[in-house]
Amino acid sequence: MKTALATVTISGSLQEKLRAAAKAGFDGIEIFENDLTQFDGTPRDVRQMADDLGLEIIALQPFRDFEAMPEPWRTQNFYRAQRKFELMHELGTKRMLICSNVSPHVIDDRDRAAADLHELAEMARHEGFMIGYEALAWGRYVADYDVAWDIVKRGDHPNLGIILDSFHMFARGNTLDVLRDEIPLEKIALVQVADAPSLQMEVLHYSRHFRCFPGQGDLPVVEFVQCLRDKGFDDYLSHEIFNDEFRSSSPLEKAVDGMRSLIWLDEQTTATPPPQPEITDVEFIEFAVEGDSGAELEQLLQNLGFHETHKHRSKNVSLMRQGDINLVLNREPLSQAHEHYQAHGVSVCALAFATTDLSAMLARTERYRSSRFANQAGPGELNIPAIRGIGDSLVYFVERPGNFRFFDIDFVPLNEDGNSAVGLQRIDHFGQTVSNTDFLSASFFYKSLFGFDVEASTDLPDIYGLVVSRVAKSKDGRVRIPINMTAAREASAQRFIHKSKGSGVQQIAFSCDDIFASAEAVSADQLLPMPENYYRDLDARFALDPELLQRMRSLNILYDRNDDGEFFHFYTREAHGVFFEVVQRTGSYDRYGEANSHIRMASQARQYRREEGV
Ligand code: MG
Repeated sequence: MKTALATVTISGSLQEKLRAAAKAGFDGIEIFENDLTQFDGTPRDVRQMADDLGLEIIALQPFRDFEAMPEPWRTQNFYRAQRKFELMHELGTKRMLICSNVSPHVIDDRDRAAADLHELAEMARHEGFMIGYEALAWGRYVADYDVAWDIVKRGDHPNLGIILDSFHMFARGNTLDVLRDEIPLEKIALVQVADAPSLQMEVLHYSRHFRCFPGQGDLPVVEFVQCLRDKGFDDYLSHEIFNDEFRSSSPLEKAVDGMRSLIWLDEQTTATPPPQPEITDVEFIEFAVEGDSGAELEQLLQNLGFHETHKHRSKNVSLMRQGDINLVLNREPLSQAHEHYQAHGVSVCALAFATTDLSAMLARTERYRSSRFANQAGPGELNIPAIRGIGDSLVYFVERPGNFRFFDIDFVPLNEDGNSAVGLQRIDHFGQTVSNTDFLSASFFYKSLFGFDVEASTDLPDIYGLVVSRVAKSKDGRVRIPINMTAAREASAQRFIHKSKGSGVQQIAFSCDDIFASAEAVSADQLLPMPENYYRDLDARFALDPELLQRMRSLNILYDRNDDGEFFHFYTREAHGVFFEVVQRTGSYDRYGEANSHIRMASQARQYRREEGV
């Protein structure tokens, strides 16, 4: 299948949009007419620019309010069409997109609409053009694609076809039956793909603000493309996305997301998908620090029972281990970590995932247009391959052949002086807080590259605004990544973004088997205090054993329970905007204590205001 993007999908000037589309690897573009009208060169310049970039201009769009109009509008419309045909010659495009009429003057008469489209198609035939007719979900009399198809059939002209747009179809609740059973391949003039979250709202508002790339929303776009492929469709799939965040993001980043989405769609609908190597675990999390800047973080980690177990052979990098948790502190100058430190302060600069098949994983990241990061390995060291992840961070990949681990090569074990561990075992989950323009990208990054499941978004009430959260999770649930964002300036997520100057890891949760023993081993002043009212409410809700409740209260442990089991957890205070959580799951409890998140965020806000003196 060939790939295209309507220029309305991404931000920037027409030049920037075309460059971004070409760089992301698209074959074609649809010129959204506003982009051309505001362009200060000629249509021939646009054609030249597209030619130079290797892009085909696959359509000029949209041509509005054309069919079934009374005079004088009807005559004006044919004049307008003739002028646009001249433009199309200059642009070197052969396809015009006509969307169904929304004018208050349009006449409710399918034969009349069909006759107008036939006449226009006859004009187009002389020019060597194709007319595509699309049902807008808010069209006045034509809002469903089966009605548009009925008109195209009545119009009966070889230069007239139907334009299928998944957003309009599914926003109206259309099924694929008419496409599957009635529309022949040669009458499909163009296919536009867009997804959206499932929301109940007025369809025009829904369309203009909430569309997203296929795979980022909830509409059955995979079934749509599967249906087309089953018919033998092998032409352009074109993104036509109106989205507030896309319009305010980097055009290249969104173009890459769009390309990733089409690759994912292809993979979901092909009979022979490429292998999906598994991500089995979080191998390590790396912090960027410099000199003594990380002292507060180190002290907090030491309080949580971590100590330096290994030193890097040649770099100023130390490894703190506990259970199967590996935390790397990187102080190396001339490194990605150092650059990250300079831009974001003490922060998580990289994650490493363990994978079952490193070479297949790397092939996959390349297929998905991820940029590889070249690091500088010293002699005899592993050159751990990495790609650019969320924000400015990296994602490393390692295999675990036999019992061999990354630190067995790169690091020298230190003599351990006593064991300070508090029983932490593995990374249960880590939370990434992202800007609103990164929210869809981040979850789709995990979904498309790693085959993670992405849960629907939930709202978490911070005392200073709403935080939106969704979890990306590996198939076996061993890697879980809550992704959070907020538009509220003072909410926890936004304070983090402000402090760390961009998207990043805000929270790391460790699992343990005995939360009380772990909490007792941590200095009380490192724990995030919980209000007394919380424990009274807990008692009212769960009627817990008074002694258990008193222990939880004294150690600031929170609690949740559902049909699957129980969840105990506590939080540390923040260091450099990052905080830690210790969790104990019983039975098959699979959530994150979301019911307690507002208590945690209120406590964090109190701590923040106290420490900042605001
Ligand atoms: Mg469309």
